[in-house]
Amino acid sequence: MTFSDLARRTRLFELIRRHERPVPRYTSYPTVPFWDRDFGEREYVEALDDAGADPDRALSVYVHLPFCAKRCYYCGCNAMVTHSEDVVDRYLDHLSREIEGVVDRIGTGRRVTQMHWGGGTPNFLTDRQTVRLFEALANVFDFRADAEIAIEMDPRVATPTQPQLLRRLGFNRMSLGVQDFDPRVQAAIGRIQPEADTVSLLEGARAAGFESVNFDLVYGLPYQTPDGFARTIERVVELAPDRIATFSYAHLPEIRKIQRAVDASGLPGPEAKLGLFLDAVDRLREAGYAWIGFDHFALPDDELAVAAAERRLLRNFMGYTTHAAPDQVAFGLSGIGCLAGRFVQNDTGLGRYGAALDANRFPVVRGHRLSRDDEVRARVIQHLMCNLEIRDDTTVPDFGAPVGDLLGADLEALTEFEDDGFLQPTTDGWNVTETGRFFLRNVAAALDPYLDRGALPTFSSSV
Ligand code: SF4
Repeated sequence: MTFSDLARRTRLFELIRRHERPVPRYTSYPTVPFWDRDFGEREYVEALDDAGADPDRALSVYVHLPFCAKRCYYCGCNAMVTHSEDVVDRYLDHLSREIEGVVDRIGTGRRVTQMHWGGGTPNFLTDRQTVRLFEALANVFDFRADAEIAIEMDPRVATPTQPQLLRRLGFNRMSLGVQDFDPRVQAAIGRIQPEADTVSLLEGARAAGFESVNFDLVYGLPYQTPDGFARTIERVVELAPDRIATFSYAHLPEIRKIQRAVDASGLPGPEAKLGLFLDAVDRLREAGYAWIGFDHFALPDDELAVAAAERRLLRNFMGYTTHAAPDQVAFGLSGIGCLAGRFVQNDTGLGRYGAALDANRFPVVRGHRLSRDDEVRARVIQHLMCNLEIRDDTTVPDFGAPVGDLLGADLEALTEFEDDGFLQPTTDGWNVTETGRFFLRNVAAALDPYLDRGALPTFSSSV
């Protein structure tokens, strides 16, 4: 069934009105605002030493590159503008120091199954800087041939030779920021991106042999209309990237000051915004894309779609993946890692990040040591967000008890979501229905006791 059915749309909108509330996106559990500000360098060093005690454990690596040529008005990332190669070089000096410090503790030659360069604009680096950073990592980590090595790219600053260079270094996945092809929308978000730039980078990636290319789209931007966004989706279908992420624009100008430049009078209302997304879901599925989680899509032979169909998809701070390692180490400002049962986040300020490393300190500003209860809930929530099911008789590895026994009454409370048709009971738990996909965050929130500690203003609304 499609979402073009008016009665279905009306019912969905009524449900959203009833259930909409600020809830986390659950890229981790517990979510970042509940981490401990007292968790600092000493606790991070302990986590690194514990991770170092098991040298066979695989790693995921995240590197944050915050620089951009120009700031887009809708931006919600930790990003900054610079026109100085020296500023980037100094940042790379600090990254090298941070990498050395971490490797001193966890050991060289650790096996890496996944690496992701995010930003900012990672391809804002010059070729020399890209090679320098990649070599700094490749010298101390073991990137296996089947590792997923991904980079986020801005087509506006990509050079014709970048895809070849990146592929030669070992990158095999690329994610292109597209948002919307409509020039009026692009003007309203301060990001003029000729379609030819996107097409040229896509073709460059394919010619260079990238295994998978993703497009990031955004709905709910100013001046997006059903017809205009449908044209964007139609063009995306023609270009046929392997994966598509359709993110909801969260207009939070009080928190993200750059968004004050967005003309709020041009923003679609809640119903119109949902309509943009529903039309996109219908068209992308009609074109053969598998719908993953709430807002991702993949061609049926892409490994994300295969893993989702087999209910073995994973998710970490870098997004949906099949390559997540048990430990994740993050480098760069605002980077988030997870090592030996501890979450950890770096400072978000460039000056403070560099100053800490200059003083031979890790630039850690908060973290969290997961309790046994946290670990159980984290696994259940991750499986829910990725594979759209909760199985209460699944025995949680390490704890030797079924989820139902460990979470007890909290799981029973999920029956309230059956009444609105979000969850369908099975013999050993629940499956998420199509309607329920829109409320995944609400279902996860019902398993999150941290939210009872008080509402936090930084979460966007649930749908
Ligand atoms: S949206 Fe991307 S390119 Fe634009 S300012 Fe933010 S990080 Fe930079």
